[in-house]
Amino acid sequence: MSENKKSEKNEKIVSVKGMNDLLPADAALWELLENTVQSILKSYGFQQIRTPIVEATALFARGLGTVSDIVEKEMYSFVDAMNGDHLTLRPEGTAGVVRAVLEHNLTYDSPKRLWYIGPMFRHEKPQRGRYRQFHQIGAEAVGFSGPDIDAELIMLCQRLWDDLGLDKIRLELNSIGNAEERQQHRADLIAYFESHKDVLDADAQRRLYTNPLRILDTKNPAMQEIVNAAPQLLSYLGEESRAHFEGVQKILRHNNIPFTINPRLVRGMDYYNRTVFEWVSDQLGSQGTVCGGGRYDPLIEIFGGKPTPACGFAMGVERLIELMKVSGEPYAPNQCDVYLVHQGEEAQLQSSVLAERLRDAGLDVVLHCATSNGSGSFKSQMKRADASGAAFALIIGEDEIAQSKVVVKAMRAGRADESQNNQTSVPFDSLVEYVVDQIVAGDEHSHDHSHSHGHDHTHH
Ligand code: ATP
Ligand code: MG
Repeated sequence: MSENKKSEKNEKIVSVKGMNDLLPADAALWELLENTVQSILKSYGFQQIRTPIVEATALFARGLGTVSDIVEKEMYSFVDAMNGDHLTLRPEGTAGVVRAVLEHNLTYDSPKRLWYIGPMFRHEKPQRGRYRQFHQIGAEAVGFSGPDIDAELIMLCQRLWDDLGLDKIRLELNSIGNAEERQQHRADLIAYFESHKDVLDADAQRRLYTNPLRILDTKNPAMQEIVNAAPQLLSYLGEESRAHFEGVQKILRHNNIPFTINPRLVRGMDYYNRTVFEWVSDQLGSQGTVCGGGRYDPLIEIFGGKPTPACGFAMGVERLIELMKVSGEPYAPNQCDVYLVHQGEEAQLQSSVLAERLRDAGLDVVLHCATSNGSGSFKSQMKRADASGAAFALIIGEDEIAQSKVVVKAMRAGRADESQNNQTSVPFDSLVEYVVDQIVAGDEHSHDHSHSHGHDHTHH
């Protein structure tokens, strides 16, 4: 083996910068978010769509506009070594969904409410709330033209924050009108910024003639003053755009959804028009936007479809998870109902049968299994039972086998059994019924159970 090969072999292989593992300690929180959002989307009539992670590079170049941040500098694009195809790891979800809608003619008979979840890839500088692989949950309502669907999408988000116990996310709203309205505003905006050229930073100078609207988005403190005094797109809106915007606000007010109008709010992508919105938290540092969305009526025609109005949003899962950690309701992760402890061959065999019966009844059961150290002493098995977070340890030894009984020991505080030491003997035949009864009774007393794992015990 050459020196070179050797050092290659010894080098530790680690994850790619900006791309994270989701470890079991956090998985339960992701599951809670995913399950909550899925059931809410369903309750609004949205259907899931899954598109590939890799798409033709041209899809994003055409869909997002070549002057957007994403296409300019954030895309993971590569040439397929096998056939020379130009491909890109998707940086966002809308372009792929719209491609699929057109490819399969999904809106031929009716408008569609669609949603997706999955990883997105952007070559950004990794920092808190900003990663190179991150996850989005998004919704796209394709074929709807009125302010009603815009408001519906916003209210769906509000319901999610409420269900997750996130009460400090605020809604910012704006309308960016249509292309003609933006054209007029753009001319005035460029003239305005030209007269303040000395204050513009390098980024703004670069964008002045390509994407001046994005200058309004700047986070540079030195530019806030001129940006605040810049011509506002809102005052360039025509009758129809204004009526649409009023319509959205009317529905939101009617449903007591608080919002503030932020005249500087624009979205990163070129294809947005009319309604734009962002949900922002102050608890996440400078990466505070957890969800962004709006209307993108022109996009489907850009992709070669019949003119079809549409509206959507995308939320950043990692940012929401962080918010759930700092301000969501307390959460009991990774707990099971039962941990089965056994000593001896007979007991081990019987345990496997009882574990299956308990699972038939809908319980989460961990059966103690051997490691390279063997099955372990009674004491070490009980340690495992304790660490598992189980509500009950079920114990089967030689005595129990002889009597066809199981020792049931309550493990969590507040699950005191009638007997003194929290344990009692239960015959094999009535074990399932006994344990299910105990767990249902415990659920009724515990306040945080909606956050553990939501049994319905329908078998009982
Ligand atoms: P930002 O201004 O923070 O870069 P953006 O305008 O690029 O956001 P969108 O393209 O609208 O973001 O994506 C929707 C949401 O996805 C964002 O509000 C954010 O929560 C999340 N998001 C975007 N980029 C990242 C990233 N690199 N890492 C983690 N989350 C992200
Ligand atoms: Mg960005």
